[in-house]
Amino acid sequence: MIFDYCIIGGGIVGLATAMRLLEERPGSSLILLEKEDALGKHQTGHNSGVIHAGIYYPPGSLKAELCRKGAEATKIFCAENGIRFEACGKLLVATSDLEMQRMDALYERSEQNTIEVHRISEGELKEREPNIRGRGALFVPSTGIVSYAEVCRAMSRRIMALGGEIRLSTRVTGIRETIDAVDIASEGESWRAKKLVACAGLQSDRLAILAGLSIEHRIVPFRGEYFRLPADKNDIVRHLIYPIPDPALPFLGVHLTRMIDGSVTVGPNAVIGFAREGYPRLSVNLADMADYALFPGFWKTVLANRKSAVTELRNSLWKPGYLEECRKYCPSLELVDLLPCEAGIRAQAVRRDGALIHDFLFVQTERMLHVCNAPSPAATSAIPIAAMIVDRVI
Ligand SMILES: Cc1cc2nc3c(=O)[nH]c(=O)nc-3n(C[C@H](O)[C@H](O)[C@H](O)COP(=O)(O)OP(=O)(O)OC[C@H]3O[C@@H](n4cnc5c(N)ncnc54)[C@H](O)[C@@H]3O)c2cc1C
Repeated sequence: MIFDYCIIGGGIVGLATAMRLLEERPGSSLILLEKEDALGKHQTGHNSGVIHAGIYYPPGSLKAELCRKGAEATKIFCAENGIRFEACGKLLVATSDLEMQRMDALYERSEQNTIEVHRISEGELKEREPNIRGRGALFVPSTGIVSYAEVCRAMSRRIMALGGEIRLSTRVTGIRETIDAVDIASEGESWRAKKLVACAGLQSDRLAILAGLSIEHRIVPFRGEYFRLPADKNDIVRHLIYPIPDPALPFLGVHLTRMIDGSVTVGPNAVIGFAREGYPRLSVNLADMADYALFPGFWKTVLANRKSAVTELRNSLWKPGYLEECRKYCPSLELVDLLPCEAGIRAQAVRRDGALIHDFLFVQTERMLHVCNAPSPAATSAIPIAAMIVDRVI
């Protein structure tokens, strides 16, 4: 049998793509292959659960456009599928003169991105959030929270209802594109499909290489380590509390996140990982490390970002340093409040010249489309990302 479509990867991007393909082409045959024994076990199941509004991203970028559309689409999908979400809003808190300046720039950017944002004063901040200190803040009312694992489960039900097949515990080990199809192999099994879409997150560069593509980037794993607050501190904040980010860095800074289950997490930081899929602290995978150590772009990016790389590593190994990051805006937090919580690992594409790729990156051939970079906010943006992929594929 030859499938119309084969999707590799059961994270939110792969699932949203499979769902969209079946909606656009009802009656097509589709198989989704996922190497783990459950869906969403990597980035999608280890994130902050935030439905981002999209204020950070350069106006006109794919990220800005897809995030704005994605926030809306995610909320509609949740409402239609009985998934609980909350538009709790977010505060970006400035704690110094420099951050006040950056906050003004961010405000202008959010206006260009046509997102509703309000400047609030020190006094208003205190009123809204008695446990938070800052010189001023931006308030983004539409930011929300959800469980992306639950979103994935609803997507998988829809895929199966539309006639798609989902195979778990199936690791793709071979891909060969021919004139009339793509041959896909796993341990002991193989399939043919007219079109292939690979959404393999932390393994996306390896799958592209496996498929014979010549790519100019590699995935570098960036750990995002979290702590959880004790249950009696679950009402320490009413909104999500973020620092004003340093525009030179690609990550958003350690934040206080209310999760949809009622708990509050602190994090994530951004530390270079020693394993792509090793979640416990100090997990090491020599093959993963060799991959990036042999890639010149990795050393260039480390050199260019050495100051923040050292600070992040220090704070990862030394809890008081980590605590200081959040005490800047939440001074009542103590070391004993930082309880263990599982980390997430970001798949960050790095170019040969050392530049971190910030936007989404797709590589396409006649019969294949590889999603080579789907960084945050790709969970928020998954539904419009999928629509874009499907447009390209069909
Ligand atoms: C710490 C952290 C916090 C984040 N916070 C947010 C947030 O709050 N909001 C937001 O919008 N985004 C957030 N993100 C980003 C978001 O989670 C990711 O961009 C998104 O989940 C990417 O989805 P994906 O499907 O591309 O990748 P993944 O979820 O990583 O899925 C890829 C899948 O491919 C499978 N796979 C890989 N290789 C193979 C193979 N050979 N054969 C078969 N299957 C294979 C993997 O097992 C995996 O299930 C965060 C990310 C991290 C890490």
